[in-house]
Amino acid sequence: MSATAAANDYSKTYNTTAISGKSFNVFNPATGDVWATVADANRDDARAAIESAARAQPAWAQLPFTERANLLLRVADVLERRKQDFVAALTAECGGWVRKSMFEIGYAPSIYRAAASAAYMSTGESMPSAHGKVSLVERQPLGVISVVSPWNVPLLLSSRGMAVALAVGNSIVLKPSEETPVTGGLMIAEVFEEAGIPPGVLNVVACSRDHVAEVGDELVSNPLVKAISFTGSSTVGKAIASQAGSLLKKACIEAGGKDSLIVLDDADVERAVSAARFGAFFHQGQICMSSEKILVHRKVQDEFLDRFITATRELNIGDPTSMDNQIGPMINEKQAAMVESRLAQARTDGVQFHEGGTRDGLFYQPTVLTGVTPEMEIFHEEVFGPVANIMFYDEVDEAIALANNCQYGLSAAVITRDEQRGLEVARRIESGMAHVNDTTIYDEPTVPFGGVKASGMGRHGGRWSVETFTETRWLTVERGGRKTPF
Ligand code: NAD
Repeated sequence: MSATAAANDYSKTYNTTAISGKSFNVFNPATGDVWATVADANRDDARAAIESAARAQPAWAQLPFTERANLLLRVADVLERRKQDFVAALTAECGGWVRKSMFEIGYAPSIYRAAASAAYMSTGESMPSAHGKVSLVERQPLGVISVVSPWNVPLLLSSRGMAVALAVGNSIVLKPSEETPVTGGLMIAEVFEEAGIPPGVLNVVACSRDHVAEVGDELVSNPLVKAISFTGSSTVGKAIASQAGSLLKKACIEAGGKDSLIVLDDADVERAVSAARFGAFFHQGQICMSSEKILVHRKVQDEFLDRFITATRELNIGDPTSMDNQIGPMINEKQAAMVESRLAQARTDGVQFHEGGTRDGLFYQPTVLTGVTPEMEIFHEEVFGPVANIMFYDEVDEAIALANNCQYGLSAAVITRDEQRGLEVARRIESGMAHVNDTTIYDEPTVPFGGVKASGMGRHGGRWSVETFTETRWLTVERGGRKTPF
């Protein structure tokens, strides 16, 4: 174990009430070194964390909403103060380019500020009553919410999963990914503590892959848990949603994607290339909204492909702590091997490789493909790696059909000089979100973020999160005008 690991020793303490006594290692994907040691929660720890959340929740919900908002604003301030710590930790733990880490810690405070503003939103309405009653509709917090988050953007996605839920009076049990337990959970718990959030309102249950199934099961099935906020793969999302559904619990599921970026015949090709390059290669393609299908009109085919290949060659691969290296390592061997297997199948299927296709350990070359058809695996399955699949079309209907021939429906993009036409095309794409003249990768904390089909159900952000994480209740007051029949 390296000296760095000791500096990130979370093996003895974490923000739950019980400890399994075991720990697991977290690796820096760029160096292969152990970067942190973390206590390995089991089902008992998860249960204790849920009970802690349940004890803390009533007092948290009873705080004036202004106080909850103020505390969340303080969380944002502490995050900003610890910016440099997070940049270093995110780069080391996720292997992301240092500018991706800067973006993530730059964005995270706004999630808590937007959540603080959500606490000020109207929580109910008054209804007309045929019998002269006072008839009120109110929104009440659900209670304990389990939040399960992935490794690719850990600080941001753990925060997005829980911030508004907290603002409206719920308490949280957060299970970060086993790849990123520190930036996805334990450091956030430190920030919450420093910001003065009462103990028990946020409880982090970090565990190794060995305990994920039992901890995950407890986080859904425990009767004290009222809803689940999940971000991750569609496979796990579906399993969680079906378990939650069988218990009639709410589940907000943000899952995988296979997003299309459509370049129309009138597109500004330079803009299209830059949107597509970022969309395909940002964070080594390990983004749910990555542009996995780049659909280019034949009129601009040659110019686009030439420029795209040139732009791809300009990317640098290597140590992600350097500002100059946009491409860092994949998160782990499993993910790199998955990309390798998808590309091997693509080669067998006769796809043309213009760039890349090889790797040095976890460092994958940005890869440019043409010749993919809807019959191939790579057309349908999420690659989650630095792979640009460029396909050409003649008619816009064809591009829309290619985009919609997809099990997923998260984000989409349309590049055109005609905004009206861009919106018309965007409306025909089956996705939760679509952006005209930008990349597929885009989010803001106050918008309804989410997907359709296998990309999930429910929306995160602003008032949509308020709806998700509250119960609608109907209350009446009878004022003596209505007599019972007997
Ligand atoms: P994953 O589904 O393997 O893991 C996500 C989380 O679920 C982790 O915390 C993991 O430990 C946990 N988990 C795994 N098995 C579980 C179980 N049986 N019960 C409970 N929890 C369990 O996904 P990942 O590899 O961490 O992330 C990559 C995937 O996430 C990609 O498919 C990507 O598209 C998707 N993603 C979606 C969004 C979005 O907002 N839609 C954002 C980021 C990532």
